[in-house]
Amino acid sequence: MSNWKDTDIVEVDQPELTAAERLYLPQIVGGMKTTVFRHLLRKRVRDEKVVQYPEQKVTVRKENYRGVHRLNRDEQGRVACVACFMCATACPANCIHIEGAESPWPDREKYPVRFEIDELRCIYCGMCEEACPVDAIELTPLYHLVGTSREEMIFDKERLLEIFDETKDEKPRKNPSITGY
Ligand code: SF4
Ligand code: SF4
Repeated sequence: MSNWKDTDIVEVDQPELTAAERLYLPQIVGGMKTTVFRHLLRKRVRDEKVVQYPEQKVTVRKENYRGVHRLNRDEQGRVACVACFMCATACPANCIHIEGAESPWPDREKYPVRFEIDELRCIYCGMCEEACPVDAIELTPLYHLVGTSREEMIFDKERLLEIFDETKDEKPRKNPSITGY
């Protein structure tokens, strides 16, 4: 037997729509108000935040932005790296490959004959920079990393030294004479 009583039932009349409501006019006007007044009038504010890359570049914090790597030069223009492998050991992405050799200079034991970083494998964590005892490897404010093949994105010693030349004015080497060379 049902527990419902007649008073529990509420009958609702279907509202009569006006002609405008049948044509969705209130909804169309409401939508246009949102488009014109809210979005179009705010467009100027949005435009100020949009950067038209590559014609325009965003400004990054030069001191600590972790972009493309560079291999620093010492004061005599030689590669500052002493091929100690600390950066490659610290790298969690295993993207640094170094081949060391006996140094041709009397002020250090070794230097890198080959130094490569796979910029596509890198996660830009900065561990290599932290691990380097002579501040020879650093991350730079460069963020436009573009290439058409994987091979092209493996930066060798010469490319990494070129990046030092490109960025040294913008971001000077942190400790240029940390080990005296
Ligand atoms: S930034 Fe991190 S992932 Fe990239 S090379 Fe350095 S240690 Fe490896
Ligand atoms: S870049 Fe620094 S940590 Fe890496 S091998 Fe050279 S000296 Fe060692």
